[in-house]
Amino acid sequence: MLLPTSDSPSLPDRATQHNASIAAPAGEPEYLSESSPKDRPWDRHRSEADRVASMYLNASGWFHRLGERVEQCSQVLQFAWSPEKETPGALTLKLRQAYFCRVRHCPVCQWRRSLMWIARFLEGAPRLLSQHPKARFIFLTLTRKNVPVGELRSALQEMSDGWGRLSKRKEFSAVLGWLRTVEVTRGRDATAHPHYHALLVVPSDYFRNPEEYLTHAGWTTLWRDSLRLDYDPIVHVTAVKSKCAARSSGRPSKPLLNAARETLKYAVKPADMSADADWFLELTCQLHRCRFIASGGILKNVLRERDEANDDLLLLGDGEGGESPRLYFDWWRPVRRYKRRPFDP
Ligand SMILES: [Zn+2]
Repeated sequence: MLLPTSDSPSLPDRATQHNASIAAPAGEPEYLSESSPKDRPWDRHRSEADRVASMYLNASGWFHRLGERVEQCSQVLQFAWSPEKETPGALTLKLRQAYFCRVRHCPVCQWRRSLMWIARFLEGAPRLLSQHPKARFIFLTLTRKNVPVGELRSALQEMSDGWGRLSKRKEFSAVLGWLRTVEVTRGRDATAHPHYHALLVVPSDYFRNPEEYLTHAGWTTLWRDSLRLDYDPIVHVTAVKSKCAARSSGRPSKPLLNAARETLKYAVKPADMSADADWFLELTCQLHRCRFIASGGILKNVLRERDEANDDLLLLGDGEGGESPRLYFDWWRPVRRYKRRPFDP
């Protein structure tokens, strides 16, 4: 947090005392990461976006235009002081406005999108968990052998068809709902490794019911048959370890939230994007307009997957976003940090 200035509302005494000790000395730049430690990830994601932008800008045509958009993404962040939910009386900096390029592989937008989905999961969870208080959750990863990056699109289409067949099999009939995302990692030999992460909801007695429970070997065979493979694919299946999926507040338990975070994280690791420009540009073409997230059963549309606008990536809370004094932080590329404008407009 920053020492309040004329454009900040007056802070409660406790917050003022705390802030006085961390305010930047006169003449020193005020960095976002120091003023608001919870906002430290901004510097990392915007640095990664610089690398992605230059890879696109070094190419021509459509890629170049993507590069121009990524370059402009989140250059200026407008924050305002807001009451902190967890600590009554304290104020915290909250993002109020920014421009997001919404290019699929922009590391900033990918990060914000993942946070948006987690926020929507948290929003939908109390209702879901009150309707199914004893439900259990499973975290499932389904893979296949690596493919040449130029065949990624057809590989993902096959996986989507395979998932369609899997979800109609009787072994899957105990599953009450599911969320499924795509992740692609880069193989050391510059191949692509597409895989699915899925969060499944099952009835409370699922693990005790031999009619319903599917072992690891059972999932492997089911995915192998559904994807029509001639080898056993690598499959991971883990029960989310919480007897009670909801806390008394209606929020998901910590293990459930961790499994949701793992399911809803990035589609392509930024380190894989910047490892090899040729691989990344081909990946961009292959994944153009591919759907990365799907849902079904009682989790259908909990995340409103198709609903995404600039403001959704701001992650404003209820009633937030109106006019209030703003603090401006600009991306300062030479030092790869967001720095406060000395004089806010
Ligand atoms: Zn962006």
